[in-house]
Amino acid sequence: MAEDIKNYTLSELKNALSSKGFAPYCAGQVFNWIYAKRIENFDLMTDISKGTRDSLSENFYFSKLKISKREVSLDKTEKFLFELNDGASIESVFIPENNRRTLCLSSQVGCKYGCKFCISGTRGLKRNLAASEIVNQYLTISDLIGRKPEPRSGGATPRFDGALRHQSTGCARGIPEKAITNVVFMGIGEPLDNFEMTVKAIRIFTEHKGLNFSKRRISISTCGIIPQIEQLSLLKLGVKLSVSLHSADDKIRSKIMPVNSKYPLGELMKVLRNFSESEKYPVTFEYALFGSLNTSKLDAQKLIRLLRGTNCKINLIPYNASQGDFKQPAPSEVEDFCKELENAGLFYTLRKSRGQDIHAACGQLYALWG
Ligand code: SAH
Repeated sequence: MAEDIKNYTLSELKNALSSKGFAPYCAGQVFNWIYAKRIENFDLMTDISKGTRDSLSENFYFSKLKISKREVSLDKTEKFLFELNDGASIESVFIPENNRRTLCLSSQVGCKYGCKFCISGTRGLKRNLAASEIVNQYLTISDLIGRKPEPRSGGATPRFDGALRHQSTGCARGIPEKAITNVVFMGIGEPLDNFEMTVKAIRIFTEHKGLNFSKRRISISTCGIIPQIEQLSLLKLGVKLSVSLHSADDKIRSKIMPVNSKYPLGELMKVLRNFSESEKYPVTFEYALFGSLNTSKLDAQKLIRLLRGTNCKINLIPYNASQGDFKQPAPSEVEDFCKELENAGLFYTLRKSRGQDIHAACGQLYALWG
């Protein structure tokens, strides 16, 4: 049976090709055609012999993702809903800022960790994504962002219902890789719970012969799964790690993030300190500010105590919706919290919520459209 070629890293493809009787160096050529030249048609890979190309066509195929919806926010954030072969849906969000253009990728269909504020977890985990489904989010969007619909202005939301353009013509050459500068695993799912495929996708993104994406421009976001953080550390991939912290108090964190009961803050911090020491790079902590929940002076002081002496950055994100027990923080809550961190000399950034009008926060797209 033919295999999806986009599920292979370069070294896996070399092995697969030699086990099928092809010269392993072909793998580099194939990788270069698919990811650098963006040709998804073996017949057009002209530096490979005709016989080999024919056999490749018999043994491998090119998977594609179908875009079922595309929306553009007033701030130019774009959200894509993909329908997978089994009918499941995932989303990706493209966030352009000054000279940074970030693509937020999904790693699973659903999520099993059940963070109380996150819509992705409300229906549990359906399945892991294949590496090709992760990589295809990137390939499809980088092809399309040169042809975006106008930002929405008041009335009806312009929607894009296009079928995926045939990529074999290679007419998108030159545009795609210039467009996306950063990749973050912050869409639907827990990337470390789909460890193998996330790592495989990262190896494909960073392969020199292919997309040649810089490892420091790739970031994995996790709710804090200790064994997999340790495993990631051993691989020395060089990608950045973000941890969704949201509270420095075990009681509060366990309440809003059940994963904390299994992997509490003390143990998590130990592993993260080791991680940043061995990577020689700071870990980023995501801290969503929920009104009256985690924004008091005491909350800030607990955060300061927890992170003091750790090589880290803090991203504060004022919660932008209202759901269940969660509400937006008042501007004064945000201000006071920031002041506490500043006084303690802790480095933080206050992130703007992007794409609010198109519900671009994690899982919101899927929940509204799925
Ligand atoms: N499972 C991973 C990655 C997916 S979520 C993780 O937990 O990090 C990406 C980020 O969005 C996480 O920091 C998550 O806590 C945050 N998030 C999810 N829903 C949110 C919401 N409604 N408002 C603000 N942040 C949210």
